[in-house]
Amino acid sequence: IPALQIRDLRKVYRQGNVAVDGLSLTVEEGDFFGFLGPNGAGKSTTIHCTTGIATVTSGTIEVFGIDAVKDYREARRLVGLSPQEFNVDVFATPVQIVDWVGGYFGIPKAERKVRIDELMQRFELTEHLKKPFRALSGGLKRRVILARALIHKPRLLILDEPTAGVDVETRLALWQYLAELNRDGTSILLTTHYLEEVERLCRNIAIVNKGKIVREGPKEEFLAGE
Ligand code: ADP
Ligand code: ADP
Repeated sequence: IPALQIRDLRKVYRQGNVAVDGLSLTVEEGDFFGFLGPNGAGKSTTIHCTTGIATVTSGTIEVFGIDAVKDYREARRLVGLSPQEFNVDVFATPVQIVDWVGGYFGIPKAERKVRIDELMQRFELTEHLKKPFRALSGGLKRRVILARALIHKPRLLILDEPTAGVDVETRLALWQYLAELNRDGTSILLTTHYLEEVERLCRNIAIVNKGKIVREGPKEEFLAGE
């Protein structure tokens, strides 16, 4: 079963904006998938439809075989999301932010604590545990958001520009961590504007334009030609 299977997705916003226009794509289990395209192409909308943040006009989305449109709460358990817009309480601390989502997923308190300790160490956040989110640098914010996305050990991780606006050092550290996660079996879909990020991390790529996939295939095909 694919990690993500989208068939003929259409999303028309209330104002009549056709954001996604018959998009189909498959992310196989274990893949590191680059979802690329210009601004306004429909990437974030596709991600929002997949994670139940936006409603779907038509088409189907399955996450490990679960209907992500009808059973979006069930599908969400399998998905970790690092959204482009963070949507957090900026006065909350890193632990509170991660713990809140852990609670949302029904993880018992004791287990949450262990997981959070692990994640805070992994992302080198232990010196910043008492600071409100708003006081953190861009790179630290990114790491908190990634920790939040991982609290429930998702099988599919969706990253909407995870390294936008962070410094080079943080970007390299994040790349390494994402590669590790993928090696350990987490399927990943990533949008980015950094070609180097694609080169380093992705195995397969789809390019979206005006709400449709215009090209897709293994990374090598893109790097070799045109
Ligand atoms: P991308 O992530 O590729 O930059 P988006 O999915 O954000 O593209 O946007 C696709 C199109 O949908 C754009 O024309 C954008 O203006 C429009 N759009 C995105 N979000 C909304 C919204 N909440 N309401 C109306 N139109 C939207
Ligand atoms: P519901 O409508 O089911 O009550 P919400 O849309 O209010 O759920 O989501 C609750 C919160 O949990 C939101 O802040 C959302 O960003 C967060 N959330 C949901 N699913 C995930 C996920 N897979 N990874 C990270 N955060 C998530």
